[in-house]
Amino acid sequence: MSRIPTQATGNQEASFNQDKFAGAIMGDEVRKELEAQWQRVCDRLRKEIGDKAFKTWFGEVELGEMKDGKLRLYAPTRFVRDWVARHYGDRVLAYWQAVTGEVKQVEVNLTPPPAPRRANEVIAIPPVPSSQNSYQPPMPRMGPSIGRGTDDLFQAPEARYTFANFVVGKPNEFAYAAARNIAEQDRPLPERNPLYIFGGVGLGKTHLMHAIWHAIRERDPKTRVLYLTAENFVNRFIQALRTKNTNQFKELFRNVDVLMVDDVQFICGKEASQEEFFFTFNSLVEQNKQIVLSSEKPPSELQDIEERMRSRLGSGLVADIHSSTYELRLSILQTKAETARVPVPQQVLEFVAHKISTNIRELEGALNRVVAHGQMLGREITVEMAQDVLHDLLRQADRKVTVDEIQQRVAAHYNIKLAEMSSPRRARSVARPRQVAMYLAKQLTTLSLPQIGKRFGNRDHTTVMHAVRKIEELKISDLSIAEDVELLKRQLQG
Ligand code: ADP
Ligand code: MG
Repeated sequence: MSRIPTQATGNQEASFNQDKFAGAIMGDEVRKELEAQWQRVCDRLRKEIGDKAFKTWFGEVELGEMKDGKLRLYAPTRFVRDWVARHYGDRVLAYWQAVTGEVKQVEVNLTPPPAPRRANEVIAIPPVPSSQNSYQPPMPRMGPSIGRGTDDLFQAPEARYTFANFVVGKPNEFAYAAARNIAEQDRPLPERNPLYIFGGVGLGKTHLMHAIWHAIRERDPKTRVLYLTAENFVNRFIQALRTKNTNQFKELFRNVDVLMVDDVQFICGKEASQEEFFFTFNSLVEQNKQIVLSSEKPPSELQDIEERMRSRLGSGLVADIHSSTYELRLSILQTKAETARVPVPQQVLEFVAHKISTNIRELEGALNRVVAHGQMLGREITVEMAQDVLHDLLRQADRKVTVDEIQQRVAAHYNIKLAEMSSPRRARSVARPRQVAMYLAKQLTTLSLPQIGKRFGNRDHTTVMHAVRKIEELKISDLSIAEDVELLKRQLQG
């Protein structure tokens, strides 16, 4: 039996299915025992990651229920949920297993909201049972649920992520065409294998991958299409190593016709998993099986990855999705609004398309919220109303972070003088915070590298570039830097 160590689930209320656990009524003693175990796990965690990090990430995480070897934790926000699952999932599971072998899997969920909804949560519109095409709120994206036999891996992905529901515009037309082409071809062409789709967060990579899945299965339901995230791949592989079951792991991929791996950047810096992935990859390509990959970065920008792997990844068709344009955002909103249960005036769509430019996921969330307020509270949908309902998102969008703010925050965080941000000193104690600040300036402002260099004591743009690369590297290898950066980013954007 294989399983993933942790998963983040539960994007919203809809996904929090208490019924599933209704049978898990625990006796007082069992509960007490579980709490004691949690305490021990927390103690070990605190020792390992330090008080500060522990408080930041686990301070508000609550113990949930345990059923059939699956243990639930509840996190107060999505951010914490994802962070805990991603960065501490393995350790929580390992520590728990050291305390008791009963726990086979740990899941981090969003704390279910209290009866009156929290104002800052996106409200999910209850799905309409009758019509299949009606507008559905985003569903939680679970990795293939594992632990109940390998067949689960071949489960249908998100039903609404189809080509028909994908709005095509300039930024994504090439990736869309490439995806369709792969889905429609009879056999893989070596020059288009693998298809490597890359682009920023929330721009539709996963949507396109699932769409390929649906289209292939529609053409031939017998085709074995395996979709999984790179994280899932890594977790399963580690688990297989632990339980000395690598043959079973390899077997999973042997009979696959099409392999899709989402978010391959996750594999960076994980040597053993990379090797295994490379091996799986090559053996499928040799058998002329199609491979589809997605990533947040082009192959050339992936770090901590072997050269042979990098060239393999980029050896087929590389298609990027650019950040969205106003036109694309508006047309996505128009498409989605057509199936909403209340009419949304064109001006409101234009307003939202104009204001919410981060990514499509946020855009969808914003429309959801406006529609839900209109529908549930019977409010007329107007620009003023949208402004009111989306005030937190809009504040973020309007909020421009300055280099001054970044330097001040970072200096305060590391307890160094503000002047060190532009001083020539190169001691690590000031150079590292300076690099963090440069990195944040690149991330959070629209300034160019030379412009940023100027603000840091007239440094050259190559120095800034080096700083950005360095911090990107450290974010993978050094947990405390990763946390510092995330924390600072949150404070600056908050
Ligand atoms: P990524 O994998 O790139 O982070 P997703 O594929 O998860 O992004 O997309 C985020 C959300 O935005 C999904 O709900 C998806 O359906 C929606 N979306 C993204 N691009 C489009 C598009 N072109 N048309 C319709 N919906 C889109
Ligand atoms: Mg994705």
